[in-house]
Amino acid sequence: MFLEVKKLTKRFGGLIAVKEVDYTIEKGKINAIIGPNGAGKSTFFNLISGMLKPSSGKIFFKHQDITGLPANKIAKLGISRTFQTTTLFEKASVFENVVVGHRLRTKTNMFDALFHTPRYKREEEESKEKALEVLKFTGLLDVADQVVANISQEEKKRTAFALALATDPELVFLDEPTAGINPDETDKLSELIIEMARDGITVCLIEHKMQMVMQLAEKIMVLNYGEKIAEGTPQEIQNNEQVIKAYLGG
Ligand code: ADP
Ligand code: MG
Repeated sequence: MFLEVKKLTKRFGGLIAVKEVDYTIEKGKINAIIGPNGAGKSTFFNLISGMLKPSSGKIFFKHQDITGLPANKIAKLGISRTFQTTTLFEKASVFENVVVGHRLRTKTNMFDALFHTPRYKREEEESKEKALEVLKFTGLLDVADQVVANISQEEKKRTAFALALATDPELVFLDEPTAGINPDETDKLSELIIEMARDGITVCLIEHKMQMVMQLAEKIMVLNYGEKIAEGTPQEIQNNEQVIKAYLGG
């Protein structure tokens, strides 16, 4: 299995944000996770990407146990993610954001960075080349030199995608990639997600826009109060009684 999560649990004090969730992702598919606010979706992403350590349970990526590894190690192994609230440097250019983001996600050697060693310079060149490549892929070359404060909301979302793609991931987690943008822009981002999948990247997204989820995802998991309450194809999910009760408000 490409990604395999076993009985993953995260407690915050008395609160169980993610409770014994079993989950698998097959290579090459578009997957979605849905559920009400506070269901544990972002926490689930944080656990897999190494931003948080699980209280219990296991995570395997390509059969390797990655449970509890730090985020930069997990990024190097080929898992990347975007954040629900984009954390871009508003005063830096789109290009600089991607270059710096790439370095932060992959490099940890403070010595090289402080003393500008040959290795640091070589890696910096690599980051710049990679940034151009992903900015082209995400359709941002035209605004590459603009400061982030001056680009549109949709372009900011694309920049977050570019950041996630800069580490050459095999598996990408997108946390509410289209939150706060209009339907036309949402369609454009959907196209980009499809492009990513065509390019061989496996995608898992958290999304509230049901129409988009149902169109894009091949497999959907539903979380409610930290627990998996359903899993299946869009059609199975739409017809699932428990889902309708808990989430779709029927
Ligand atoms: P979702 O993304 O589905 O809206 P979250 O994963 O953000 O849900 O949150 C799940 C639950 O865990 C919520 O009750 C939230 O308040 C809580 N939570 C999330 N992160 C933390 C944290 N760092 N410390 C304490 N509680 C948290
Ligand atoms: Mg969330």
